[in-house]
Amino acid sequence: MLPNMLKNLVASMLTGHVDSCLSCGACASGCPASSLADMDPRKFVRMLSLGLDEQVMASNWVWMCTLCNRCVPVCPMKIDIPGLVYNLRNLWPRDKKPKGIHTVCRTALKKNTCSSLGLRTGDWQFIVEEVVDDVRQSQQGFENLRVPMDKKGAELFLNQHSAMPVNEPEEMAVLWKIIHLSGVDWTYGSKGWAAENFCYFLGDSSGWEQLVKTQAAAIETLGCKVLVNTEFGHNFFAVRQGLDRFKIPHSFEVKSIIEYYAQWIREGRLKVNSDWNLDLKIKFTVQDPCQLVRKSYGNFIAEELRFVIREAVGEENFVDMYPNRSNNYCCGGGGGAIYTDFTKERMDYGKIKLDQILETQAAYCITPCSSCHSQILDLSRHYGAKFHTIHLWTILCLAMGVLGKDERKYLGADLAGVGLGVGSGVKIR
Ligand code: SF4
Ligand code: SF4
Ligand code: SF4
Repeated sequence: MLPNMLKNLVASMLTGHVDSCLSCGACASGCPASSLADMDPRKFVRMLSLGLDEQVMASNWVWMCTLCNRCVPVCPMKIDIPGLVYNLRNLWPRDKKPKGIHTVCRTALKKNTCSSLGLRTGDWQFIVEEVVDDVRQSQQGFENLRVPMDKKGAELFLNQHSAMPVNEPEEMAVLWKIIHLSGVDWTYGSKGWAAENFCYFLGDSSGWEQLVKTQAAAIETLGCKVLVNTEFGHNFFAVRQGLDRFKIPHSFEVKSIIEYYAQWIREGRLKVNSDWNLDLKIKFTVQDPCQLVRKSYGNFIAEELRFVIREAVGEENFVDMYPNRSNNYCCGGGGGAIYTDFTKERMDYGKIKLDQILETQAAYCITPCSSCHSQILDLSRHYGAKFHTIHLWTILCLAMGVLGKDERKYLGADLAGVGLGVGSGVKIR
């Protein structure tokens, strides 16, 4: 490799040039990946500037940065460090890239479902029908639950991370009950429904583009007005950014389900009530998913998120971690890190997050993104912490008295029986 080749290559793709770095260290001081693999963002930029291409390419650090963007707003010279990392990931030889991320990207590209776990249309439809039948038969008030598939002209098209139908299908029912109670016109698709895009994390632009095109075509074919990204972070960013970056024609909007939760509560469609927590006084904190907050909506969605949680658990029972909102730390599960073998580094990265959560003394950390959920659950187990990690949909259904007996696996003993009594609306089998 020629010296400076990387610098010239990445410089042609980005705004702030690495040579303009002041070496101020602002990026490194707020980056949870600093010191992993003996690297930090300041050092990384300096090495690129000095033309130390071989040393840069020999470091695994680009796979430990989670592309969380926390370093971007603090850089006085507007150097887009995650943009540099993305482009370097792209330049890595295919056989040297982490196999896990490579596999889930390639698998998704082979299926018109876009499922990174390889779920085919027929399997997806079968699982959905099985779970719907079970809820209809076992849960009072949901005997007529419907989960539309390929409904033409539906207002909302919902996506779904494939980990749910594959690993914990009962979690989908929790979401469906919220949608059912809201009364909105919605549908899933048999194609393009999977809420993941690991090709973006691989630095594979053509794969990223293909997945967004498949998802967009599925929505356009049905004529839906809004793609609603359910409780997952990176796909929201990958779709919104991808539509723009690859100039993919489309006539739908992309929104987060959190925006709808807040709207449906304000409109009185969702009867969320925090009275269950009046005496219990159980404390909750929340992880702001950086793909959704810092990288996409900004603080607007963080405020909507807090509105929803306060309605569900009570104003006085919500405790923020610091820093938060657009300045929050990534939990360490982003950038495809969960699919690499750098587990120790992932746990080291997440220690800041763990400490932030522990400082709140909250019994529960709510994670409205499945990657954050997996990572924070891993962190609590790895470090032996006592707090519980739950999805937002879980606490919403609990606060509406409709959380089923089999939908409580992430709850602690203090909440295991809340809302399950006679007259709660939940039929105990
Ligand atoms: S994107 Fe996040 S992890 Fe990567 S260098 Fe910036 S702050 Fe660190
Ligand atoms: S914040 Fe920007 S200018 Fe300062 S060290 Fe980092 S890359 Fe260089
Ligand atoms: S795992 Fe969560 S906090 Fe980390 S990058 Fe993804 S959305 Fe952000």
